[in-house]
Amino acid sequence: MGGILVFAEQRDGTLRKASLEAVSEGRRLAGDKELAVLIAGSEPAALAPEAARHGADRVLLASDPRLALYAPGAYARAAAAAVAACDPDLFLLPASAMGKDLAARVAARLGTGLASDCVAVTAGPQGYTARRPVYSGKAFATVAFEGARPAMATLRPNVFPVASPPRPGRGETASLDVRLEEKDFRSRAVSVQAAKGTTLDVAEADIVVSGGRAMQGPENFKYIKMLAEALGGAVGASRAAVDAGWIDHQHQVGQTGKVVSPSLYIACGISGAIQHLAGMSSSKVIVAINKDAEAPIFKIADYGIVGDLYQVIPLMVEEIRKVRG
Ligand code: FAD
Repeated sequence: MGGILVFAEQRDGTLRKASLEAVSEGRRLAGDKELAVLIAGSEPAALAPEAARHGADRVLLASDPRLALYAPGAYARAAAAAVAACDPDLFLLPASAMGKDLAARVAARLGTGLASDCVAVTAGPQGYTARRPVYSGKAFATVAFEGARPAMATLRPNVFPVASPPRPGRGETASLDVRLEEKDFRSRAVSVQAAKGTTLDVAEADIVVSGGRAMQGPENFKYIKMLAEALGGAVGASRAAVDAGWIDHQHQVGQTGKVVSPSLYIACGISGAIQHLAGMSSSKVIVAINKDAEAPIFKIADYGIVGDLYQVIPLMVEEIRKVRG
């Protein structure tokens, strides 16, 4: 098999965690074959050492001030140029909002096959296969890329570990020869506004504490924040809480929100509707707090607490603080 190309997404001068996961997985799959990493931005060269530390043999730099923020057409052109430059068998991208958008554009441009939101990629004698959730996470499909080259896959964040210690690559850097035209910037992000008070993105956090309709109003989300803070996690929410206007949509977990795969997911006052499960069922450990012992969330929870969250959460926070000193 030939080499592997990974698109590494940067924001504010750092490579995002989901990108490091993709680079790490690319390194593992490439074995002794070449792993190339594409970084696009205004000054992407500064990020090359980080990519090399995590396994890049070759770092392809698409450098242009207009690439500082995501521009779908221009990024797709740069990605297609990277594919032409290294002719990989497999092209991996993080299944972030940007990665998903870009992957679909590049697959269409190259006329190749794309498996999105994968939780495993395997190399076999017949080529690569990818495992991905279907029917809102109720089942998994294993898909092959027959006749598609390069095979393309986006990787679900928090599923693929970043190798520790990382396995470095050769780290050669090369500027990508890509001629960007005005029409490549017909749509582009002009600024990224972080929501006030938000530190951790729910999709990237290793611990997520979510609140549902049981919160009854915005003021009670302080309970969820308290538990999230005690654990060093991010705050998530069900759609019921978001639709009621109690918390911003960026916190929504589920089919029409974000897909999360943290090490620990704590669902507080969330019934466990299929659309919510679609966004969190691949979490490694699931804890549910619900006063209804028959709530469907308990069917997928590893640990269940039947009780009133307004009594349970303060007790949990007290115990966590004791343990953490
Ligand atoms: P409820 O179902 O009302 O559950 C509230 C739970 O809180 C109950 O189980 C109750 O026993 C418990 N409770 C109440 N008080 C307490 C207390 N004091 N202590 C402990 N427990 C308590 N939903 C999502 O979450 N994400 C999505 O992305 C999403 N996308 C959707 C897309 C479509 C097309 C559709 C049709 C629906 C979607 N939904 C989504 C909505 C989904 O179907 C459910 O309506 C929603 O998840 C319910 O939210 P909930 O569990 O917070 O509320």
